[in-house]
Amino acid sequence: MKSPIIIANWKMKLNASDALKLAKKLAKASTKYKGAEVVVCPMFTEIAAVGEAIKKSKIKLGAQDCFWEDFGEFTGEVSPNALKDYGVEHVIIGHSERREHVQETNEIINKKIKKLLELGITPIMCIGESFEQRQQGDKETVLIQQITKGLNEVWFNKMSKLIVAYEPIWMIGSGQEIDPNEVEHTHQVIRQTLYDIFPDTMVDEQIRIIYGGSVNPENVLGFIDQPTVDGALVGGASLDGAKFSAIVASALK
Ligand code: PEP
Repeated sequence: MKSPIIIANWKMKLNASDALKLAKKLAKASTKYKGAEVVVCPMFTEIAAVGEAIKKSKIKLGAQDCFWEDFGEFTGEVSPNALKDYGVEHVIIGHSERREHVQETNEIINKKIKKLLELGITPIMCIGESFEQRQQGDKETVLIQQITKGLNEVWFNKMSKLIVAYEPIWMIGSGQEIDPNEVEHTHQVIRQTLYDIFPDTMVDEQIRIIYGGSVNPENVLGFIDQPTVDGALVGGASLDGAKFSAIVASALK
């Protein structure tokens, strides 16, 4: 049995008290998360309180974004180094909602990934195609471009870790079905693209590829059971403590 990584993306959906309540609930439930690595990514404003609430549990703290510099005249931005001070170990970069709503480009994503790796934080680089791109047969081209541009001249040291989250945009929050075999095929394309960029051993030992898009307790095992799916990024279903814990439990079956 592999030990999957399950990452909760709480987006901009919980106020301070609900985020804290959920964090405490998950911290309690986490004694049963044996064998899984679990990360929660609250909004910036909840990072400190959530970090405190999960400190004694095995749950790790993540963030949903950061800036590409760690200090300076960048009003309104959030320094990855400041996040590290709060115990953040993972940061989601290039989520499709950021690519869409704030025009985050592959070049910006690339700068953020470089900075995070420099600071020893694990980037969770999101990639994914739109429904239209899939229909036009452009899925693989889009993904390969997102990977090669996002990881352009990225240097790893021996401790560096990277997570690539494959999230078909049309699956996010849609509740639609996707065949796990299609996900597996796409993950193989992603893995091959990574082998084309980095040494094979580095890809095998330092990069994980996870799936995201309408993951729930019923469908998670279908994805995790695929040979190249190392875990899941969960949005909607991560906002309900019982549901999220059920996802972790199902992923471990
Ligand atoms: C996400 O936004 O990263 C995500 C996977 O959302 P959902 O699980 O709601 O589809």
